[in-house]
Amino acid sequence: MRYGIGALILAIFVALLPLAPARADKGDVLRGCIRPIQPGDTPHALFLAPQRFDCAHDQSDYGAGDFWILSDPLPVLPGDPRERLAVTFASTWQDATTLHILYADGSIRDVAYTSATTAPYLLLGAVIAVPLPRATTRPVRILWEAHGAANMRGVVRGAHLVHHADALAVESSLSLVYGIIMGLVVGLAVYNLALWPALRQPLQPVYCMLLFFITGYALCSSGLIGQWLPWLDNNERHRWNAIMLGGVALTLVIFARHFFERKVFEGWLDRWAIVTFVLIAIPNAAFALLAPRWIRPLDTAVVIGFLVLLVFLIAVLVSAWRRRSNFLWAFAIAWGTPIILAMFRVLHALHLIQWRPWIDQSTLLSMGAEALIASLGVAYRIYLLSRERDQARAHERAARRLADTDPLTGLFNRRALLDQAVGRSGPQTLILADIDHFKRINDTLGHDEGDEVLRGFAQALIDTLPPGTLAARIGGEEFALLADADHAPDAEVLLKRLRTATYPAGLKVTASLGLCSGLLQDEEDWRRLYREADQALFAAKNGGRDRACWAPELHVPTPPLPVIAPLVRHHATP
Ligand code: GH3
Ligand code: MG
Ligand code: MG
Repeated sequence: MRYGIGALILAIFVALLPLAPARADKGDVLRGCIRPIQPGDTPHALFLAPQRFDCAHDQSDYGAGDFWILSDPLPVLPGDPRERLAVTFASTWQDATTLHILYADGSIRDVAYTSATTAPYLLLGAVIAVPLPRATTRPVRILWEAHGAANMRGVVRGAHLVHHADALAVESSLSLVYGIIMGLVVGLAVYNLALWPALRQPLQPVYCMLLFFITGYALCSSGLIGQWLPWLDNNERHRWNAIMLGGVALTLVIFARHFFERKVFEGWLDRWAIVTFVLIAIPNAAFALLAPRWIRPLDTAVVIGFLVLLVFLIAVLVSAWRRRSNFLWAFAIAWGTPIILAMFRVLHALHLIQWRPWIDQSTLLSMGAEALIASLGVAYRIYLLSRERDQARAHERAARRLADTDPLTGLFNRRALLDQAVGRSGPQTLILADIDHFKRINDTLGHDEGDEVLRGFAQALIDTLPPGTLAARIGGEEFALLADADHAPDAEVLLKRLRTATYPAGLKVTASLGLCSGLLQDEEDWRRLYREADQALFAAKNGGRDRACWAPELHVPTPPLPVIAPLVRHHATP
């Protein structure tokens, strides 16, 4: 059932994946050249002197500060020239931004916003889309003026010139993808929390915590939270984004620790888990509390923490493989995609590969995939645990049966008989059966043949018993039967059956029976009943053996008669 739902959601999710990078696919990325803002700079002068910008170095090489970013000449978009244009680019940590737009007629128009007033421009995928003011001529170049830019991975990244309507169309496709991921994650969380009281796996609350942080990260990193809470400062959104991503990473360490068997984390890996946790927690906490102060070194420390996490996760997989963990494949499949994509992010953060729009989007998408596949991992783990539990129960039942059984005859032993006898409702009949002159059988045929006789005797007893009768071997050649008094086996029939059964070497075997009936509500009742039956057996032996003797019935209280209303007969008068 759980697998079925999971597979269905996964199928929908995979089918929708191609929608996600749609915005990134439209048009070429506008290259941006950088120049620190200097006194006396004016947009007009800078548009005329593009050679004053640095196009050779990475923007982030300049560190935090105030910058001009000049775009390449804008392309002419196909389609109706009257259509509204917009420029889109990734949202980054900045205090205030102004876009100066140069038009073909030489006019310059401005659009300005601050981190506190970013919300109207924020689209899903944390993309800022600034509609360009309408003019009679077309826009030819854009100059960004960014103040208080953290410039961790660039001031203006992934800029595109698009038709505003296209950007909004992509927005609705993306909102579908985000809606599905969020619905999926919330559904999985609710499902796991609902199952928790029944299953009580410590992994489940950890998994729900992971889902919580993934949801939080989805909200913050997608810009959704900025749309829902338009008063939220965009830089604060970046801070919450970092907190949530840190939360995902920290919970992942705990999740891995609970997901695998203890043996996987024995020794150094256990200590490494703690080190990894600390190396993620400290820089993330510092970033959350201190940014924008020391934002770039803190960001580097955060990235290093994630790098340690990656190495840690790979080490966990290696350890799980070497220690033959049952959960290796579930974990590897669930986390394979996010780990690989996170690797791209880290490589990009370390400037080893170029920024690509899908690098930002992919984290969220892979987290959605991970949330889903990890739920199958959790289900698989629970399945294995419940299978172990079933096996343990079966072993316990087998062990109990062994402890209750007489190994020679397969009947109950004395202890098991006592366990089951006391508390039976209604009057009970106890029959003690002792084989006559058994010692002689042993003496003449040997002990092994004697054992065979005991087995044959037990079988003869079982064959005569009415259902519901307990049969036990309570001593060497002494047996006990216990049945409801109303359904007890007939003593004479039993004696005959035992007498006529076939025994080894054509032996004739007889037994003596001592019988007694009474209630069996407690152990005292049992002792009395047994004593009386034993005395009856003694009497049967003394009386010549191969016979049954009844002890006087022990006191059985007669149930009170129901009160019957006086019967009044109405005779029809003729
Ligand atoms: P009675 O008719 O008075 O009951 O005489 P008996 O010989 O049957 O009784 P007694 O108590 O004198 O002897 C019982 C014998 O049962 C003694 C013992 O060696 C034998 N015995 C006890 N347990 C086993 C067993 O597990 N296997 C075999 N083969 N013999 C056993
Ligand atoms: Mg005997
Ligand atoms: Mg005996």
